[in-house]
Amino acid sequence: MKEVINNINNKYDVKTTFIEACSNKDFKNYVYSLGIKEEILMNYTFRLLECFQELTNYNNNEEYKNKVVGYLLTPEGNGNIINFSYIKTDEKLKEEKDKFFDNYFLIYNMPKAIKEASFKDIYKDDKLRLPIIKYFKLFLDNYDKGEYTKGLYLYGSFGSGKTYLISALFNELIKRKVFCTIVYYPEFLRSLKSSFKDDFDDIFNNVKTSQMLLIDDIGAENVTAWGRDEILSSILQYRMEEKLPTFFTSNLSIGELEIHLSQTNGGNDKLKARRIIERVKQLTSELNLISKNRRN
Ligand code: ADP
Ligand code: MG
Repeated sequence: MKEVINNINNKYDVKTTFIEACSNKDFKNYVYSLGIKEEILMNYTFRLLECFQELTNYNNNEEYKNKVVGYLLTPEGNGNIINFSYIKTDEKLKEEKDKFFDNYFLIYNMPKAIKEASFKDIYKDDKLRLPIIKYFKLFLDNYDKGEYTKGLYLYGSFGSGKTYLISALFNELIKRKVFCTIVYYPEFLRSLKSSFKDDFDDIFNNVKTSQMLLIDDIGAENVTAWGRDEILSSILQYRMEEKLPTFFTSNLSIGELEIHLSQTNGGNDKLKARRIIERVKQLTSELNLISKNRRN
């Protein structure tokens, strides 16, 4: 390609240069895909070569050779003319998306993969999810109108897609610059217990005050009076008072969770469990997700 460009200045006219450049099949495909007539394409030969060179550098991991790293000079066919502009590379877009995501999505003890959860994939799924999808639509509509909606208490069998569904909703909310937090509850309690004071306060406050919160897999933790009455209870109390949407996923129904929460190593404490359950009920609508196991 370089040779071609060098030769242009010396002895070839534009037409010859264009035809010669098109002996490179990739270049030919590149320019013809613009949907512009050949005699018009030719007028842009030098610019098109420049664009193609930038793309080639990018694909060969030699982006540093380009004018602006993160952008590609790109032609766009428009009737009888071609417009040229610097367009962000896929890599740059991904980097920006990740950065954006990290600013708005806080995840404790969860695999990062949940940031890929998306509504697109849910829609293809079975009818049993319709009530959940309906609820999500309502939630987003209300959010856009500035109205508060309760979160969901989504329970069902292991691997049915509960975490995925709520994560997909959160990914929609993040696009609206809503700060979302997900904690994997059993592990969250363990790591909170072993963290130092400053970290503890940071984490605890982030979770308590996050615009949206998912407490994932509640009911799978070892119940202790500390976790229940100091951590969970005050998180829920605060979120209730401040009307902050709060979501739960669980293998247990709310009724079953009540029994679970009443049993600590220290004995049976029905009243304290009841108090938590009252808050859960105030904060959420309960939905059951019936589905096959989607884990591989
Ligand atoms: P649960 O929280 O109910 O145990 P998960 O949400 O972890 O289940 O889902 C189990 C697995 O199935 C995960 O790997 C998740 O990424 C995948 N999964 C769930 N729902 C979908 C979906 N609608 N489209 C694609 N993958 C999904
Ligand atoms: Mg889960």
